[in-house]
Amino acid sequence: MSSTNFGITPESLLRQEVLDLKAYPVPDSTGMVKLDAMENPYPLPQSLREEIARLVADVAINRYPDADAQRLKACIRAVIGLPQSLDVLLGNGSDEIIQLLALAVAKPNATLLSVEPSFVMYKMIAAFTGMQYVSVPLTEDFALDLPAMLTAMQQHQPALVFLSYPNNPTGNLFDAEVIAQIIEAAPGLVVVDEAYYAFANASFMPMLTRYPNLLVMRTFSKLGMAGLRLGFMVGSKVWLAQLEKLRLPYNVGVLTQQVAEKLLQHHDVLLRQAEQIKQDRAWLYERLVGVADVRPYVSDANFILFRVMHADKIFQGLKKRGVLIKNLSKSHPLLVDCLRVTVGTPQENEQFIRALQESIHQFV
Ligand code: PMP
Repeated sequence: MSSTNFGITPESLLRQEVLDLKAYPVPDSTGMVKLDAMENPYPLPQSLREEIARLVADVAINRYPDADAQRLKACIRAVIGLPQSLDVLLGNGSDEIIQLLALAVAKPNATLLSVEPSFVMYKMIAAFTGMQYVSVPLTEDFALDLPAMLTAMQQHQPALVFLSYPNNPTGNLFDAEVIAQIIEAAPGLVVVDEAYYAFANASFMPMLTRYPNLLVMRTFSKLGMAGLRLGFMVGSKVWLAQLEKLRLPYNVGVLTQQVAEKLLQHHDVLLRQAEQIKQDRAWLYERLVGVADVRPYVSDANFILFRVMHADKIFQGLKKRGVLIKNLSKSHPLLVDCLRVTVGTPQENEQFIRALQESIHQFV
C-alpha cells in the first residue's frame, strides 16, 4: 500500500449526499414485545410450517434462483387477478423497487416528490440516487393538500411522485378523488404504495388500465412474510419492460421464491390473519381512546398513530417495561408528541396498554 492511500478518506471520496445520510435506524428489540415495525405478529399454522420445512429441504441452494421468478409471478398474478395487459416486477422488499424506480429516472436535477409525514425511504432513496427531493406537507388532519401538490408539481416537474396509501406513519387513506387528480396532473410517474393494502378496503389497482403513468406497489412484509423480503409492483408493460432492465439478476432468492409461492397457495391463511389484525386494531383503538390524555388517529393500516403529552418519556417508559414502539415525536412538526404502535396479538396489545397506562401515571 502506498502512503498516498492514507489520504483517501470517505470525506474525500464519497458523494456529499451519502456523507450527509443517517443509516435507517433499526433498534435492538431482543427480549422486547416488538410493536415497532408493522410486522404480522401471528406465526403460521404448524402444518404449514412443516410443509415449508419439507419444501426447503429439497431446494437446490447451490443453484441460482429462477431469474424471472416465473412461477411466483404467476401465483401473484392469480392472487390479485391481474389482467394480461399489465405486468409484475419483483423486488427484494418494496424498498428495492423504490430504489430501482429512482435509479431509472435519476437524470441530473430530476425530482422525486412526496408528502410529509410519510415513509422516510422516499427521501432517503432520492439521496441515494442523487435525485432532488421535494415534499409537500399534509394538512393538520393528515390529508393531501391538493392545491399545494398541484403547485409543487407545476414548479418542480417531478419525474416520480410517491403516495403511501394508507399512509405510513399516519395510518389514513388519502381521498381517492384527490389522488386521481394528482395522477392526472402529474408530469411523470405516480407510484401508489399499497404496503398496507391488506388492512384497508381500498386500492388503486383497478385504476391501472385508466392511467398509463400510474404504478401500484405492494409488499408481502406486512402480510406475514417480512423475513422473506418480497415486494412487487404492477403497471403497464411499456414501463415495466424498461424498469426490468435495472433489476439486479437473481434479486429474489430461491428460498423466498419457493416459500412465498407456498404461502400464496395458502393465501386464505394470511388473509384470515389480516382480518384478525383488523379486529385487534379496533380493540386497540378503543382502548387508546379510553386512556386519559391519549389521542389516537383512525387507521386503515396495521398500526395506530397516537398523540400523548411527554411522548419521549412515555416512549422510554414503555421501553423500560419491555414494549418497543416507534417514537415519531421529533420526526416532523405535524407529529410532535406522536408515537406509533403496531397492532400485535391480543396479549401483546394488552401488555402495551398496561405499560402505557403505567408510563402515563408517572406524570400525574
Ligand atoms: N412502503 C411503505 C409505505 C412502508 O411503510 C414500508 C415498510 N415500512 C415499505 C414500503 C417497505 O417494505 P418492504 O421493503 O419490507 O417491502
